[in-house]
Amino acid sequence: MLKDLWIETVERLNQTMPSSGKMWLKNAHFKDEKDNNVILSFSSPFYLDSFKKKCQEQAENVLSDFAGTDIKLTLEVDNNIKEEEIVEKKITKLSEKKKAVNETLNSDYTFDNFIVGENNLFACNVAKVISNNPGTSFNPCLIYGGVGLGKTHLIQAIGNYIYDHNPKMKVIYVTAETFTNELIQAISNKTANAKFKTKYRTADVLLIDDIHFIADKISTQEEIFHTFNELTERNKQIVFTCDRPLTELTGINERLITRFRKGANVDLQPPQYETRMAIALKKCKDLNFKISQEVLEYICLNIKTNIRDLEGALTTLYSFSELVGKEITKEIAMEHIKNFIPTQMIKSTEVTIDQIISQTASYFNVSTFDIRGKSRNKNVSLARHISMYLSSTMTNLSLTEIGKYFDSKDHTTVSYAINKIKSIEESDESIKRATETIISNLKK
Ligand code: ADP
Ligand code: MG
Repeated sequence: MLKDLWIETVERLNQTMPSSGKMWLKNAHFKDEKDNNVILSFSSPFYLDSFKKKCQEQAENVLSDFAGTDIKLTLEVDNNIKEEEIVEKKITKLSEKKKAVNETLNSDYTFDNFIVGENNLFACNVAKVISNNPGTSFNPCLIYGGVGLGKTHLIQAIGNYIYDHNPKMKVIYVTAETFTNELIQAISNKTANAKFKTKYRTADVLLIDDIHFIADKISTQEEIFHTFNELTERNKQIVFTCDRPLTELTGINERLITRFRKGANVDLQPPQYETRMAIALKKCKDLNFKISQEVLEYICLNIKTNIRDLEGALTTLYSFSELVGKEITKEIAMEHIKNFIPTQMIKSTEVTIDQIISQTASYFNVSTFDIRGKSRNKNVSLARHISMYLSSTMTNLSLTEIGKYFDSKDHTTVSYAINKIKSIEESDESIKRATETIISNLKK
């Protein structure tokens, strides 16, 4: 613990001390730590004394500031240390530090295991261009999309790729939440504050995840604004993610939004069925999980808008099959992954088609007579399509049976209506709101 802080302290002192002081600092060698003591060893009493006179007090102050408590230095002479060793150790320490910066990168999130479909093709291509030439195009870049759609995976893939190919680059990944917390901790302490600013403003690639978190946080926005300016002036790459498009982002200062708007804005959409299937197959392969086609189809048909849930469902079933040593049937799957499936997708025998038609009618302010009838009024036919759709997802009735509840509607018409709503439900907010409200009214 204290060892890391000592490395930070040396770095800081190297930035602030006159070169006469740095000379003595160079000869201090971290030996051990005990309680609130750092033990430093020196190759000769001369070096020890010089350090004591020129550096000790300042070093203890910086170290204590970093630790947030009083830390003392204990100095010792160790005849076994040779000058070269000290230099060597220092280099290793610095390279250790470089790695530490990237401990925030998860090496599982790479381009290699990011499945590409129509929904994320553009975002993925932009991310690859950035990774190959950071700071030159698409700078800054915003990746936005709903929960569990791969924002963190993609932004981290950029970080991993750049870090692997240019180990000298300072790549920093941070969530907006961590950034905010670090800022809060640094704000009241001059040294820590300077350290915080330097950390982010000296990045070659800065990746900030979930920027929506800074809404209404004025100081964080201010700090990000200045960091942005400094980095972009020096052509350093910035990528950030957000759970919604900028137009829907509120509580953020307009001048910051203007900065975000420059560069590229790319979105991640919910994956199509085929992409969900490809992701599920890959996950099963990684887990070495043998699962029937029928169960896979069931999962991919029902979990549509969140890849994290898709993975969660598979992991749940995998754990279950490992635990009981049983093959997963569709019935078992249905029972065990209920939590991952939106409630409207779970069939229930408690809701009747009459109730669905009546709730839909009242939501759209039309009569049930009209819904069942032949009116081509836009509002009425939308209500009709939605009630057909909900009847197919919420009851166990077949398409032909549903058709019978509507005037001369055979199963082809019902199937058309269902597919139409299905295809626009995910992208059309008003339809989504309508179905969700009707469902929640039905559940009451
Ligand atoms: P977000 O940050 O948008 O909420 P994540 O990046 O955390 O979503 O993704 C959720 C999970 O889904 C992660 O485990 C991620 O690896 C996986 N995932 C998302 N998109 C893909 C993809 N296209 N291919 C493979 N796995 C994906
Ligand atoms: Mg995320």
